[in-house]
Amino acid sequence: MYWDFGRAVVTGGAGFLGSHLCEELIARGTSVVCLDNLSTSSARNLAALRSERDFEFVEHDIARHGYQADGIDLVVHMASPASPADYLRMPLQTLRVGSNGTLNALELAERNGARFLLVSTSEVYGDPLRHPQDESYWGNVNPVGPRAVYDEAKRYAEALTSAFGAHRDVGTRIARVFNSFGPRMRPGDGRVVSTFVCQALRGEAITVNGDGSQTRSLCYVDDTVRGLLAVASGRLATPVNIGRPGEIPVLGLAELVRSLVGSHSPIHHTDAAVDEPRRRCPDISLANAELGWRPEVGVVEGLRRTISWFAAEGGVSAAG
Ligand code: UDP
Repeated sequence: MYWDFGRAVVTGGAGFLGSHLCEELIARGTSVVCLDNLSTSSARNLAALRSERDFEFVEHDIARHGYQADGIDLVVHMASPASPADYLRMPLQTLRVGSNGTLNALELAERNGARFLLVSTSEVYGDPLRHPQDESYWGNVNPVGPRAVYDEAKRYAEALTSAFGAHRDVGTRIARVFNSFGPRMRPGDGRVVSTFVCQALRGEAITVNGDGSQTRSLCYVDDTVRGLLAVASGRLATPVNIGRPGEIPVLGLAELVRSLVGSHSPIHHTDAAVDEPRRRCPDISLANAELGWRPEVGVVEGLRRTISWFAAEGGVSAAG
């Protein structure tokens, strides 16, 4: 892959996905300015980057303030609360960073003549009526449901990004990220993998929402990051799905995590979540054909790595 980005700004770079992305940029020889307001992330995620000469962290809220910098070749906009638990408790911030934050990040790219990558989401498909979801599907979103603050913010962000691409001479890219997991997920973020792994390690009940027949498709973080950078450096200006095909029911995931941890946690069914997608699975033909990208790490291997990280560093003591 041809890579010629000398200097990048990454909004949301201290988050789970963002910190892995910053590390990969540095590894490719790109210097990085990481902007983050630390609302759902942690400077701890940047521990390995602090000593890098080409890495700079700036505590900054891109939703409220534009950012001035020169010599930027790439802007990656990923700042947002991203787990349902986070965006449901921060609804207005989520809408603001998807709207004002995206505008500020696009204007930074425009002033610098930089490439712009919007890190969007499979949530733009809502509770999809088409399976698997390819990029031509417009989605099935309730605009006033609880998840709308994230779904509609990202849909607006895609519209704004596309308009800058069409009318303002910015080289724009859009990646739609499906469920991603790995080390540095926040133990309390409420997401399914982090929650189940922590519960299994502690020997606590694993909380399956509803009957657990709803599905997700899980992609290991290293694959997601490679996919994002393939979209950034590739030629496709239209949205590109980045995810790992292969649906797993949430109940099956609970059983898998439990057995990989070697835990005796019981499975406890709670109320089903409101308005949540029943099925989700990416069609990644476009990324594969046009960018040569496909995930390489299987779910079991990814979960093993994630469990090891949570057991060693994630602040979770192992089940006895
Ligand atoms: N989920 C669950 N128990 C939990 C957390 C999540 O059963 O403790 C379910 C959730 O209802 C959804 C799936 O796991 O069906 C994925 O949830 P997550 O919050 O990770 O993200 P989503 O894919 O819904 O954005």
